[in-house]
Amino acid sequence: MQAAVFHGNKTITIGELERPVAGPGEVLLRVRRTALCGSDTKLWIKGAEFTPGHEIFGVVDQPGHAMHGKRCLVYIPVHCGKCETCLAGDTQMCLVESVLVGWNRPGGYAEYLTVPEQCLLPVPDDIEDDIAPLLLDTIGTAAHGVRFVRPLVPPETTGPVLVTGAGPVGMGAIVALQNLGYTDVHVSDLKEERLQLAESFGARRHPVGSRDTRFKLIVECSGAHAARSLGMEIVLPRGVLILIGESDLPWPVQENKAIRRKDFYMVRTFYFPKSDFPLNVELLRNEKARYRRLVDAQFGIDRLPEMFGRFVAGELVKPLLAFA
Ligand SMILES: [Zn+2]
Ligand SMILES: [Zn+2]
Repeated sequence: MQAAVFHGNKTITIGELERPVAGPGEVLLRVRRTALCGSDTKLWIKGAEFTPGHEIFGVVDQPGHAMHGKRCLVYIPVHCGKCETCLAGDTQMCLVESVLVGWNRPGGYAEYLTVPEQCLLPVPDDIEDDIAPLLLDTIGTAAHGVRFVRPLVPPETTGPVLVTGAGPVGMGAIVALQNLGYTDVHVSDLKEERLQLAESFGARRHPVGSRDTRFKLIVECSGAHAARSLGMEIVLPRGVLILIGESDLPWPVQENKAIRRKDFYMVRTFYFPKSDFPLNVELLRNEKARYRRLVDAQFGIDRLPEMFGRFVAGELVKPLLAFA
């Protein structure tokens, strides 16, 4: 089968690998679409031990298995289903298993991969292949973050909300916020095209770095130090700064009066619990037309090296690797 190899130094090649064989408790999945994700950039730079790709949609190819032929997404956190955290529904934070598909075992920039049975999320027939991968990071991660902090900052008493970073997760956060009752959403980003897309989604443009307006809820989706630090400054007392964007760099916080003299919540969330999935399917159903606009390219695996570079350069919002 064809698979991408991330060598590091921004180099990807497409090679022939042996088709994997499912072990006990696993199935083989034939990949149809894998969405590119900004978090793979570090593998593009440093190289990857396993085939990357973690926003995976495909069809189970395991004759004789109850799931054979089913269209499924891959829930990336491998989880035991039995520990305290899993039993409480927080399968993304299992206390026993810590492997992530596409990170610590092979992922979806390949024609096939094996998937633990508990990581299969069956996709309803009315959700087309071309938008199915959005149910993971774009919708799942963003909507979970908003649901997690909503009790602290209910829409009725929160006023305007700021989203920093209008990439796929930021755009996902805008749609999730609007659907969860936050009607006045502001957005900041350095890229003009992204701001225009966010504006067409009903968000209002907020100048990058501006301290003129303060917000009860700030959804940080860029992972940039500057945006995080500014968020700590301009979040209102008793407000919430939620960090959904990720960064591998050490984050030096320059403490100042605006940060020191204030009670506020700084919240981190990761991915989403499996139990959110039906809610996310409903959100996608209600908002298909807008989510569809985020998918701005689809291409075969031979073009992945070139398209990944264009994606990292910010030319594309949510491109999909597609297999026939
Ligand atoms: Zn991702
Ligand atoms: Zn567990």
